Amino acid sequence: MDLFEHQGKELFASFGIPVSPGAVARTVDEAVAAADGVGYPVVVKAQVLVGGRGKAGGIKLASNADEVRTHAGNILGMDIRGHTVERLWIEKASDIAAEYYGSFTLDRSAKKHLGMLSAKGGIDIEAVAEEDPDAIARIHVDPVDGLDEATARKWVRAARLDPDAEQGAVELLLNLYRCYVEGDADLVEVNPMILTPDGRVHALDAKVTLDDNAAFRHDWAEYASTQKRDEREQAAAEKGLQYVGLDGTVGIIANGAGLAMSTLDVVNQAGGDPANFLDIGGGASAEVMAGALEVINGDPKVRSIFINIFGGITRGEEVANGIVQALGRVSIEAPIVIRLDGTNADQGRAILAEHESEKLQSRPTMLEAARTAVELAGEAAK
Ligand code: GDP
Ligand code: MN
Repeated sequence: MDLFEHQGKELFASFGIPVSPGAVARTVDEAVAAADGVGYPVVVKAQVLVGGRGKAGGIKLASNADEVRTHAGNILGMDIRGHTVERLWIEKASDIAAEYYGSFTLDRSAKKHLGMLSAKGGIDIEAVAEEDPDAIARIHVDPVDGLDEATARKWVRAARLDPDAEQGAVELLLNLYRCYVEGDADLVEVNPMILTPDGRVHALDAKVTLDDNAAFRHDWAEYASTQKRDEREQAAAEKGLQYVGLDGTVGIIANGAGLAMSTLDVVNQAGGDPANFLDIGGGASAEVMAGALEVINGDPKVRSIFINIFGGITRGEEVANGIVQALGRVSIEAPIVIRLDGTNADQGRAILAEHESEKLQSRPTMLEAARTAVELAGEAAK
């Protein structure tokens, strides 16, 4: 789960990381009231779950109420890379002597936490990594050992931050590491982490991704309530389906996560673009199949549907009956291609053959089914 900047800053503050005081606003009037409360000058900041807000015009300095009114009016409702701004964060403006970058995330291949720190902050870190990789100081932190002050100090020196920033940066990074571990985050990023002219180091931006698997350990209800979920994913979650929305035109239903992933690969291999990942789990009852078809049917981009089922404990004829019954319940626009294999596949295929039409076709292999689905989706099969 990704947090909005203001939520990330609230989390940071609870771990002793210095942030600027501020308030959330949903309307222009609320923005002015928030700014009056915070004290001028303020920064009016669009709250969207995407970076590069500054460049997009979603972050503006305001030195009085009139300026807040103008900027809040412009930014509310603004589209920033596909995200509509519904909320603002109004915070006390900071003076900036230097902008740095600091983050922690998991390096799965190293089986350690990865800290990245750079004196080149404020800008896109991917660009820094590409153009000037030596400008990023990296450390691996063993989760068992944790991060101690001496190591953090060495790291800060390696990143060549201004000497004035050393102590503040060490303290901030130690707290950021605690926030990352104890807060159960997958990512904490501070860009920019600033040095103020009077020598303080603080977080001017916050990007936090929480590990949803740790939700039971925390009270994240408030964060969850503001999540903007893909509508399709919301519908699937309500039906208890494992669904991930993608951008293509071939809707996919498979049983088992591994098979569903292979199905995405095969559709790609056949020159198509999957519209989703959908794992209906072990069984393939009419109930579950109907729910899955409904979710896929609700995606206007879908031009064909590929159902890829491998019967294991669930036998082929049960699966086929489930599909036929589901089709009787849901009216589906897009043509369906089915590959059914595994236990009692022959019986299952015989049942499907009775219902074969332009809108419902069977193919014996995954690749053939993918090719047909891709062709039907109107894309050139390779
Ligand atoms: P992002 O563009 O979405 O990453 O948003 P940030 O919160 O990182 O802000 C982008 C840039 O706006 C920062 O790198 C700063 O240069 C500038 N900025 C943000 N807040 C302040 C502030 O309080 N004072 C000043 N002077 N500049 C700010
Ligand atoms: Mn930023």
